[in-house]
Amino acid sequence: MQAATVIIIGGGPAGATCARELGKHGIDVLVLDKCEFPRTKLCAGWITPKVLAELELTPRDYPHSITCYRRIRFHFRGVPVPVPTHQYAIRRREFDHFLLERAGVPVHRHAAGHIRKSGGTYIIDDAYQCEYLVGAGGTHCAVYKNLFSELHPRDPEHCIVTMEEEFPFQWDDPECRLWFFDHGLPGYSWYVPKQDGHLNVGIGGKLSALKKRGETINAHWHRFIEKLAGKGLAGGYRFSPKGHMYYLRGRTDAVHRENAFIIGDAAALASRDMGEGIGPAIESGKLAAASIISGSAYSVQAVSRWSAPRVLSGRRAAPAGA
Ligand SMILES: Cc1cc2nc3c(=O)[nH]c(=O)nc-3n(C[C@H](O)[C@H](O)[C@H](O)COP(=O)(O)OP(=O)(O)OC[C@H]3O[C@@H](n4cnc5c(N)ncnc54)[C@H](O)[C@@H]3O)c2cc1C
Repeated sequence: MQAATVIIIGGGPAGATCARELGKHGIDVLVLDKCEFPRTKLCAGWITPKVLAELELTPRDYPHSITCYRRIRFHFRGVPVPVPTHQYAIRRREFDHFLLERAGVPVHRHAAGHIRKSGGTYIIDDAYQCEYLVGAGGTHCAVYKNLFSELHPRDPEHCIVTMEEEFPFQWDDPECRLWFFDHGLPGYSWYVPKQDGHLNVGIGGKLSALKKRGETINAHWHRFIEKLAGKGLAGGYRFSPKGHMYYLRGRTDAVHRENAFIIGDAAALASRDMGEGIGPAIESGKLAAASIISGSAYSVQAVSRWSAPRVLSGRRAAPAGA
């Protein structure tokens, strides 16, 4: 059986950040991920200056494409509201691979399934054992399922369903656009043109509200695509989107159990207003690492719960090197 002091299940932004912090302190850490990196992760890839600051990274030092938006065009029920800001977009395929490599810790390809505790040790699939276990496997995290699902049941009211596609595209309009509540969508849709000739378009909404109205995210997606075509924003492209669900932040009091922790989407930490999950994943990864290093309690109370204030004040938060 392979042993490490800390095993992190999931090498996304939460797991990679936690791994990097532990590695810096010389702690024996191993990351398990079911995918070979670089891997595709459904996500618009919007990050705030705070995310870069948390990662101790400037846009200049980031070796892949990063797009800066000085203005975002919000649309509320059809009314355009251009907002001056300072935000970024990366491509998750590149960003996650970069973060995981930068962590500098061993990564094994393994899809974790069964987890049990024996004495003071966590045993994963009778193949790996560790003293500390960190669940960073996203919405369907095995650590959450095995050790936390009863303690921390997910609130169905906070479930977001999404459809999205990112593809190479020679877009004409460089402005990032967000449409809130179009045709009664309990959420928003987005058009995110990226500097390296990619376009990300997607839609997300609260599952419970859609169900109450007898609507599906798929029907909203089709209306959205027609709208994009009508505006000449993605004309001629034949879409084949994928779907994913995740949870907005709800209760956060049960994210730690003995020497097991959950971070990022595994702990359901995305911001309540805009579903921003990369920042909370990184913040919680750092907090879990600090708790393992110092023996202090792990709490995610300090993790940002709202995004809008940072988007609206983004102009003032530009990092050095931007
Ligand atoms: C369509 C969409 C658009 C979004 N857009 C944005 C955005 O623009 N900005 C933003 O901030 N947030 C956005 N989010 C949310 C954001 O993507 C997530 O909150 C974020 O990825 C959470 O990071 P994480 O590290 O917790 O999990 P993930 O990024 O999901 O990483 C989890 C990792 O765990 C691995 N894994 C899963 N199960 C296992 C297992 N059993 N064994 C081993 N490995 C496993 C996976 O392969 C994956 O690599 C979006 C989400 C969606 C669905």
